[in-house]
Amino acid sequence: MIEKWSYSDSVESREIVSLEDKYGHFIDGSFVSPKSKKYFDSISPSTEELLSQVSFGGEADVDNAVSSAREGFKTWQKVKPVERSKYLFKIARLIQERSREFAVLESMDGGKPIKESRDVDLPQVSANFFYFAGWADKLDISWGTDKLKPYGVAGQIIPWNFPLLMLAWKVAPALATGNSVVLKPAETTPLTALLFAEICAEAGLPDGVFNLVTGNGETGAFIVNHEDIDKIAFTGSTGVGKQIQSTLAGTGKGLTLELGGKAANIVYEDASIDQAVEGVVNGIFFNQGHVCCAGSRLLIQESIENEFIEKLERRMQQLRVGNPLDKNTDIGAINSKQQLNKITELVESGINDGGSIYQTECELPGNGFWFKPTLFTNVQPAYRIAREEIFGPVLTTITFRTPEEAVEIANNTEYGLSAGIWSEKGSKVLWTADNLDAGVIWSNTFNKFDPSSPFGGYKESGFGREGGRHGLLSYLKEEK
Ligand code: ADP
Repeated sequence: MIEKWSYSDSVESREIVSLEDKYGHFIDGSFVSPKSKKYFDSISPSTEELLSQVSFGGEADVDNAVSSAREGFKTWQKVKPVERSKYLFKIARLIQERSREFAVLESMDGGKPIKESRDVDLPQVSANFFYFAGWADKLDISWGTDKLKPYGVAGQIIPWNFPLLMLAWKVAPALATGNSVVLKPAETTPLTALLFAEICAEAGLPDGVFNLVTGNGETGAFIVNHEDIDKIAFTGSTGVGKQIQSTLAGTGKGLTLELGGKAANIVYEDASIDQAVEGVVNGIFFNQGHVCCAGSRLLIQESIENEFIEKLERRMQQLRVGNPLDKNTDIGAINSKQQLNKITELVESGINDGGSIYQTECELPGNGFWFKPTLFTNVQPAYRIAREEIFGPVLTTITFRTPEEAVEIANNTEYGLSAGIWSEKGSKVLWTADNLDAGVIWSNTFNKFDPSSPFGGYKESGFGREGGRHGLLSYLKEEK
């Protein structure tokens, strides 16, 4: 048994963040009060305290933002590509300068550990703006044609798990390719997007090029249904994605969907066990498991099951759950009460179906939304916990005997976003990767991202790619 170390708190100060009591939408270059006259609360999921109130985007607000974006598109078209590039570089630099402020705010509003928002999210956010800034004036050269044109006004709807990073994945390529944007962040995590709007103003981005409307699914639906939007980019649940796809069918508008996942993380008996344990932990417990590409199904070769599970449980026991602003914290708060209820219900179904549950011994804070790191063994592929996306710190384990069986189980899902393979044998890794239906496959690592690398899914995980050259094409159409 490993000794339990005691830690002293190392809490990041919140003083760097200054919040308004109320925020308007960001339209035509400034913050405006909502025409809906309605506001809603943004709370901290780790303390349940009110952080601020943000505007609810009704139909008239969306309409206003789209008109502004239409004008913004005309202005942006007149800006030379090399100049567009400079605006994006400026935004990237300003994000870097204020990255501590952004990171603290992201952890306060969304519940993720500061070490992740500071060391993963924020560096990736500015890297995306730098990367796409570099592309803005090279589009013609890259495709050898000037026949590709921006869609026009892009409506972008993003989720709450990586609020600022999903913004960057969408806004940077859209602006680099000459589109204007109407963005809607998720209702539980709007605050870093509002700070980003300030950055756009500070960078001198022409009015109307970037517009932000806050609100919930209803606001999102107004964006999807708006006649004057040319392209929708959505990241979120598969159910909503399907709805959006059917709304847009036959309209001729552009659409990219990045939806759910239920990734297999396959560990072969020849893998380096300790390295794989670390990777499996990172694969599922990173960001509380609120990750569409999370390695939520551990597929373990039967011959090493006992040794692996023992080491995994011991490693899980070391995970520190608690205050997201504490630099020692590995697992922060669940993003919302609603998400906590969903995780709890699915875990109960796993127990009722006959799975064996292991949860770490840890004290959870009194206020806020929390869930202990959880591992299921003795799971049958038909159980709901093996099929449905839990989007929480819950790992289900299924065993296999041969590579063929591993691939069959891994592909036996309606999703196809990501997968992981752990093996010392290159040929086995390549054979497995060739046979997996997944958009992103990691080998002997997991959850690695880079702006130059395309990300996206197959099957019910969506279509279209974000990142890299492919990501640019999601915002360009052929001129007729
Ligand atoms: P989750 O279940 O993970 O919260 P959702 O798909 O509900 O995922 O939410 C992702 C984003 O989609 C959020 O910004 C949310 O407000 C928005 N949204 C929810 N419902 C709709 C809808 N019917 N049309 C457009 N956007 C929606």
